[in-house]
Amino acid sequence: MRYVSTRGGSPALGFADVLLAGLAPDGGLYVPESWPALPPLEELAGLDYPELAFRVMWPFVQDEAEGDRGISREDFRSIVAEAYSVFDHPDVCPVRRLGDLWLMELFHGPTLAFKDVALQLVGRLFEHVLEERGGAVTILGATSGDTGSAAMAAFAGLSQAECVILFPDGRTSEIQRRQMTTIEAANCHAVAVGGNFDDCQDLVKQAFGDSGFRDEVSLSAVNSINWGRVMAQVVYYVWAHLAVSPRHEPVSFCVPTGNFGNVLAGWAAKQMGLPVDRLVVASNRNDILTRTLNSGDMTAREVVATTSPSMDIQVSSNFERLLFEVLGRDGSAVESLLAAFRADSGVQLPAEVVAVLRGDFDAGSLSDEEAASVMDDVHEYQDVLVDPHTAVGLGVALRSRSGTAPMVCLATAHPAKFPDAVFEATGVKPVLPEHLAGILERPERVEEVPADLGAVEGLVRRVLAARTH
Ligand SMILES: *Cc1c(COP(=O)(O)O)cnc(C)c1O
Repeated sequence: MRYVSTRGGSPALGFADVLLAGLAPDGGLYVPESWPALPPLEELAGLDYPELAFRVMWPFVQDEAEGDRGISREDFRSIVAEAYSVFDHPDVCPVRRLGDLWLMELFHGPTLAFKDVALQLVGRLFEHVLEERGGAVTILGATSGDTGSAAMAAFAGLSQAECVILFPDGRTSEIQRRQMTTIEAANCHAVAVGGNFDDCQDLVKQAFGDSGFRDEVSLSAVNSINWGRVMAQVVYYVWAHLAVSPRHEPVSFCVPTGNFGNVLAGWAAKQMGLPVDRLVVASNRNDILTRTLNSGDMTAREVVATTSPSMDIQVSSNFERLLFEVLGRDGSAVESLLAAFRADSGVQLPAEVVAVLRGDFDAGSLSDEEAASVMDDVHEYQDVLVDPHTAVGLGVALRSRSGTAPMVCLATAHPAKFPDAVFEATGVKPVLPEHLAGILERPERVEEVPADLGAVEGLVRRVLAARTH
């Protein structure tokens, strides 16, 4: 498999190079040159999660042209098996009934959010490729709360990677912040930025755009722009499908969405032949995706803080991958559309583009109050605690149900990651799993910077100069 940039201005690369690069040099995101077909579903039924993951992902990784620079089939198989051995449920991503819906729990990894499913694999793939090739990288990432801790958990202690994570000061939950600030690994650095998540994400993009700096510190990205993450997420859509539709009939998915990385993986699974009926994009009050998908109104408004902070986003990076596809894989069309969006903080998508998007996607948004009442109802009637992000998805799924296809809702975080919002809605304090029990008492280590590129670059240089391992 070779990968091309959504802006059309970078040479095609193989998987291992795309993994390390993160963002393409022309500012675009890497996408596969073509979508590989899934193996027949009959052959996948009954496999355990790691073996399914290997079979679904191998076509994305395999690359004859990369030769020794790439990853071998047997290495890949054992890296996948290792990544999914650290999850605390034998099914890795268990699927259970919830009334008329299905719930897929994606929070059984070390940091209790779905980000672990991809990052536990991506961290190990980085380690493997860097060991084979030699050299070191600086991972610079922005997080709305969950990516940061999942990235640190995946890269902690790796001698070839320094991991610097920007988060919006005061905008994450306390548990989210402490998962980053109490990590003991010397190669991991939590940085509180005076700004919101879009500011953090923009700083990372600017740092990548500064080619001198990028080369000086060997910048690498594990934000959801990294193709490896989208690839790893494709697997659980296939997994859920096999669990709820033994006769391989169409299934719908509802996905609590921020940066559009998770739901994009569902769309990719559909491109690969998975029978998917509707993909429902669920947003909180930061509803640019709902407006875009319903009427083409892609206008960024002021980000508002909600009880589902990992979705407090107005500029969803991964939407670019979908635009590339609906614009006929025309990189310059993507480039000019995004330039118009940046210039005016908004753009109206043409009606024919909206029609194509609506062929696959539905969208809806929920207020904090509505999400709280979903949490309360699910607790009262089903005896299940869900986190506020999952609640947004459930609420939108219930509202937008149409047709007869089974609906799988993605539970993107463990309720104990957001104890205050869950307690307020249900009167129940969710219990943290054993390994995080002492987190509120551990000392915090955090750097603070203003939302300014020079300050961030200076901090990265200081961190690299001080590295002792
Ligand atoms: C990151 C995150 C989301 C949003 O996922 P995207 O891939 O950015 O759309 C939703 N819920 C939780 C709990 C998250 O951590």
